[in-house]
Amino acid sequence: MMRSALYTLLGALALILFACQPNGPGNTIGTSTTGETNTGTKPPPKRVDVSFNEDSAYYFVEKQVSFGPRVPGTAAHGRCVNFLNEKLAEYCDTAFVQQGTFRTMSGNIVPINNPIGIFNAESKKRILLGAHFDTRPYADEDPERPTEPSDGANDGASGVGALLEIARQLKDLDLGLGIDIIFFDAEDMGSRGGHPATWCLGSQYWSGNLHVADYFAQEGILLDMVGAKDAIFAYEVNSIRVNPGLVREVWTTGQQLGYGKHFLNINGGAVIDDHQFVQTQTGIPMIDIIEHDLSTGSFGDYWHTHKDNMDVIDAATLKAVGHTVLQVIANRNSGI
Ligand SMILES: [Zn+2]
Repeated sequence: MMRSALYTLLGALALILFACQPNGPGNTIGTSTTGETNTGTKPPPKRVDVSFNEDSAYYFVEKQVSFGPRVPGTAAHGRCVNFLNEKLAEYCDTAFVQQGTFRTMSGNIVPINNPIGIFNAESKKRILLGAHFDTRPYADEDPERPTEPSDGANDGASGVGALLEIARQLKDLDLGLGIDIIFFDAEDMGSRGGHPATWCLGSQYWSGNLHVADYFAQEGILLDMVGAKDAIFAYEVNSIRVNPGLVREVWTTGQQLGYGKHFLNINGGAVIDDHQFVQTQTGIPMIDIIEHDLSTGSFGDYWHTHKDNMDVIDAATLKAVGHTVLQVIANRNSGI
């Protein structure tokens, strides 16, 4: 994953800081009215209450890390692709791995494997959920062993873990909404301080080779680095620019659910991440939920270092994000 403090696609003034749960017991799904009194002819909307099992999400993160660094081209990466495809097939209506190749700016050919899971393929009302699953080939922010990859527990595995638990819950919720989950490959192979297009190769490939002809989703949410203890999430510049309503809805929903210490109503920086390529190449107004370190304006100190292992992952943060996103999705179904 990569991040930038200030960036414009057109500008020369780019200062780019590159960063880039199975259904457990006690889960209840029900409905409750949110209106106080039904005084008119229109009934109040029904709110679909959801649950999110943080232990399950944590397990999904741990499982990915257990394969080893998911660097494209390695056996660990291949094992992870198979695992993700199996889980999506278990939870979604259909699942497959989009395979292709991407020619980088330097002319290298990179294989792409994007696992995709689909709910309600026929629905025209759709939301796209995404996270990258690959691990950066080198922990190049680490003074020690900078040429070796880290575990990528937060930078990569956390967003995927939260989305797998969301998929597991969606299977039982049976919403009428069309939902597409894409685990983007090769997000984190970019050149530090180089051109943004050296990053996010899987999402660039998907955006140019949509898995369904004329595919479109009215909105999208990307998760990246959503598992660190006490993580802060701020408004990301390109998210608030293309879809301010959804950003505010997600943050407000998170605060209403009791996760206000994570979702702060403050402006963060601009991040070069998969959502931006999806935005510009498909027109889908996708937002990014990504950690923002208040003290540095960048990511956490684990980022692209060997500290990015399971020690930084807190199930409570995975729940804050996963529960919030799942509630926003469920609200679509009830018309809230
Ligand atoms: Zn990264």
